[in-house]
Amino acid sequence: MSFLSKFLPKKKPVEIKNNIPKEKNSIKKTFAVYCHAHHGTTGDKLCPKCTALLATVMTRMNRCRYGITKPICDRCEFTAQCFGERQAREFLTIMNSNRGRMYLKHPIMSIKHKFLSMGVDYARYEQQKKRDDKAKAKEKAAKGRSKEQKEKK
Ligand SMILES: [Zn+2]
Repeated sequence: MSFLSKFLPKKKPVEIKNNIPKEKNSIKKTFAVYCHAHHGTTGDKLCPKCTALLATVMTRMNRCRYGITKPICDRCEFTAQCFGERQAREFLTIMNSNRGRMYLKHPIMSIKHKFLSMGVDYARYEQQKKRDDKAKAKEKAAKGRSKEQKEKK
């Protein structure tokens, strides 16, 4: 060990965060807020339909193809494959319909969720940009090649 390394901050091992428990909690709360508002339920109780849908979502989350590195469900491109089309639609309706209400009831959680989805959007944007850049570079290279060939003739 060098003398200096004693004073340098230790490198933290990269840890993969398991976001599933947090996300489950957030989804449960969102369902409760939605069900209370739309189906007249109160407290911890949800109507049978929401209870069933929530149960499906919870079990599917455990089997997420991404494992614990999963993105949040309402931003995942596999929601329909994962939950089934009808249930995915109902799930997304619930998740999207009461953003405003969630901000009032659980502001900090909502903001965190918003940041998470922004992160997902940003990652997607970056991926798309990379793909676009690659395509452009290819195009350019192809053009350059055809130019060279023309010049040779
Ligand atoms: Zn309900």
